[in-house]
Amino acid sequence: MAKNLQAVRGMRDILPEQSPSWQHIETCARELFNSYGYNELRTPLIESTDLFKRGIGDATDIVEKEMYTFEDRNGDSLTLRPEGTAGCVRAAMQHGLLHNQQQRIWYIGPMFRHERPQKGRYRGFYQAGIETYGIASPDIDAEVIAIGARLWKKLGLKNIHLEINSLGSNQAREVYRDVLVSYFSQNQEQLDEDSKRRLHQNPLRILDTKNPEMKSLVDNAPDLLDYLDDESKEHFEGLKQRLDVIGISYTVNSRLVRGLDYYNRTVFEWITSELGSQGTICAGGRYDSLVTKLGGKETPACGFGIGIDRLQLLLEEQDLPIPNHAPHLYFVMLGNTAEIAGLKIAENLRESSPGLRIMVNNGSGSFKAQLKRADKSAADYALILGDNELENHQVIIKPLRQETQQASLALDKLNDYVTNTILV
Ligand code: ATP
Ligand code: MG
Repeated sequence: MAKNLQAVRGMRDILPEQSPSWQHIETCARELFNSYGYNELRTPLIESTDLFKRGIGDATDIVEKEMYTFEDRNGDSLTLRPEGTAGCVRAAMQHGLLHNQQQRIWYIGPMFRHERPQKGRYRGFYQAGIETYGIASPDIDAEVIAIGARLWKKLGLKNIHLEINSLGSNQAREVYRDVLVSYFSQNQEQLDEDSKRRLHQNPLRILDTKNPEMKSLVDNAPDLLDYLDDESKEHFEGLKQRLDVIGISYTVNSRLVRGLDYYNRTVFEWITSELGSQGTICAGGRYDSLVTKLGGKETPACGFGIGIDRLQLLLEEQDLPIPNHAPHLYFVMLGNTAEIAGLKIAENLRESSPGLRIMVNNGSGSFKAQLKRADKSAADYALILGDNELENHQVIIKPLRQETQQASLALDKLNDYVTNTILV
């Protein structure tokens, strides 16, 4: 195929045979978020570039090198959203959702980042996320984490562990930042290029380095948790206490800093060891200063983003059952008269049995060809209607996945058969 007719590098097609597991994840997430009292907020895929620059921060990987930014026909700088939080805050501010009220919001949809594509890392990928506004206490941090835990449970996922940390208040982090800059400055010769660049811009990110040669330097760096302010300490204790009470286990990782600038106090990641270096399937925390950064009134906020692509890979890796979309019935119809009568029978069945999945043979074909299609559809049964059956007001039910013999059935008993045998 001509090269320009291929999908753009790093952008994915989710093919029909893969979509049941995607739908399963998304349906579970939607139902779960709704059940905790969260409501969906759909924001545009495109926002002004400025929103992400101001919200996410200039010194982050996303803004530095990952955004799909372009000028529209008016010369305005626009960006395909690389994450969901900034857009949610923008929308909540714009529509006055943050004035003296609490909000619990969720979203699901595509995000875009220009990264090096590899397993679990794409340029177009999907996230599901929740965002809460107006609640400063650690009970909401615990709820946000509990929702993640419940989603893994609902999907049957195993071996996902939780790491938590506290970044403290903005003031406490400033103090720690200076300590860190002075520590790394004294060890300049051990810093790699990335870290040298980060030293003055975003020194906490050096702790996040994946470079093994810097491991011992980072291991010996001053500990963030030693610099926490009292209120943040209390907040962190409150979170841990609640996680203990509801039986969610965690490790405290004082090197966990997260890549985005807007976090304070709680940060966390859910990690699996089964996806190589793309092991973080969900990341989040508290970002109490984002709303003010974007020009709004001070509003506490806490949320997470889940990488659905990685979750889907993990579902496959752990070989978990996915609800089946295969039809219950594939309707084989022989001859023109049967096709017309069969269409009506099928629509009647759909009317009376809403849970029924029935696929009708379209485009005619020999008996053999139709049965082949029935088999390919993965249907449980073929429903067969020919001239003989029509004349006798009957249909044939032929099990396709069991050894049982086919049987004739009076047409006016078909409904009962569907209800009592097929849909049980
Ligand atoms: P990473 O360190 O893997 O680059 P991140 O810190 O950039 O992740 P976040 O911005 O916190 O990621 O996004 C939340 C989640 O979204 C991640 O934990 C991951 O599961 C998923 N995610 C992020 N970037 C990608 C991507 N390029 N492809 C697929 N999933 C992604
Ligand atoms: Mg990243």
